[in-house]
Amino acid sequence: AHRAAATPIVIVGHVDHGKSTLIGRLLYDTDSLQDGKLAQIVESSRKRGLTVEWSFLLDSLQIERDQGVTVDSTRIPFRLGSREFVIVDAPGHRQFLRNMITGAADAEAAVLVVDAQEGAQEQTRRHAMLLRLIGIRHVIVLLNKSDVLGFDESKIVQAESDVRQLLGRLEIEVEAVVPASARDGDNIASRSERSAWYKGPTLIEALANVPPPASRLALPFRMPVQDVYRFDGVRYVAGRIERGTVRAGDRLTIGVQGQIATVAEVCRWHAPELPVAGAGESIALRLEPDLVPDRGDLLFPADDKAAAPERSARIRTRLFWLRGEPLRVGESFTLRLTTAEHDVTVASIDAVVDLDDLTLRQGDEVPPDGFAEITLAASHAVLFDPFSPGFGDGRGVLVDRHQRIVGGAPLIGSADLEDGVHAIH
Ligand code: GDP
Repeated sequence: AHRAAATPIVIVGHVDHGKSTLIGRLLYDTDSLQDGKLAQIVESSRKRGLTVEWSFLLDSLQIERDQGVTVDSTRIPFRLGSREFVIVDAPGHRQFLRNMITGAADAEAAVLVVDAQEGAQEQTRRHAMLLRLIGIRHVIVLLNKSDVLGFDESKIVQAESDVRQLLGRLEIEVEAVVPASARDGDNIASRSERSAWYKGPTLIEALANVPPPASRLALPFRMPVQDVYRFDGVRYVAGRIERGTVRAGDRLTIGVQGQIATVAEVCRWHAPELPVAGAGESIALRLEPDLVPDRGDLLFPADDKAAAPERSARIRTRLFWLRGEPLRVGESFTLRLTTAEHDVTVASIDAVVDLDDLTLRQGDEVPPDGFAEITLAASHAVLFDPFSPGFGDGRGVLVDRHQRIVGGAPLIGSADLEDGVHAIH
């Protein structure tokens, strides 16, 4: 049986609007803190003559994170009844962005924290844009520090309408706008008496309403080849199943070459007695005939055209450009997509997002740290599934020749050769 996965959420917002305070409050109110840790925080707050200061909690998590050198994203689990959530947090804006687009953070829902009095600020707008571009479907707005406005209905309704207008322009659907105080705990886990006029959900109710992540098991089978090895004279093709299921007898197409083989045996470390392996599992397949695919080759169902991935040498991507210098047409990179690496060239820059007014415009370069839609030309046909939230396999990363990540590139479709305005030579 496949256990329901934890729903990953991100908490974003302008600096000082109350992100850290909210995380501490959420963990406390859902009783997700280890006893020792809570006592520690309460103790250190008391010593300083303070009520519990939630950001201390985050500081202590930060220390743990600094010690785990390779971990650049903290995953903070908490429970709501039978649902498990995990807050994905990262130190610093760049790191956060990097994690979001490389898949280190694959959030299903976001809480956008907005200071009720200050309203949306520069980072609020950037983060909202990011949520839109990365395709996070469920956005909950927390109008934090509503205590500062005394939970005054007319002021809060005004603040709500301002935020809704901003998010509406970005075509972000808002699940709920919750007037709250993370510091005092109003409308986080329990309904606040200070906002008797408010009939909407508490933050925790709004989170509980977020549907669990879609199952990848029901989709057509996909496994990118990680490795091919021999064991006792028998060849095995190893990889992680991205989508769907596989069992002995299935007929699979292998990579762009399109050879076809039948699965003779499915091998897995755990539960070897079960005949079917599914998305998320790392397995090894014995194929007949005994073919030798390359690392990066995609395996998919052979007998159903509708179950095949897209195939094109020209790919549209939604680019998150991470370098401090502009990107121009003609530059070359390696596109890393699951276990595959493809040589690509920027064929055209189709639209650039203007971060001041959040509109798409024409442009011949992507500015430093900008967002854009671009077309990549690969040296050969690439098999891929367009990106959708919660799926890592439609999300590419661009690396330069020093192996540095320079951009995140969720693939959004193939581009016909005919519509290429800028020819490649
Ligand atoms: P971050 O930069 O978004 O993580 O913001 P912090 O959580 O560090 O909060 C910034 C400041 O706002 C701190 O001094 C908090 O105590 C304060 N703060 C956070 N939430 C609230 C709230 O609900 N009401 C009030 N009055 N202050 C808050």
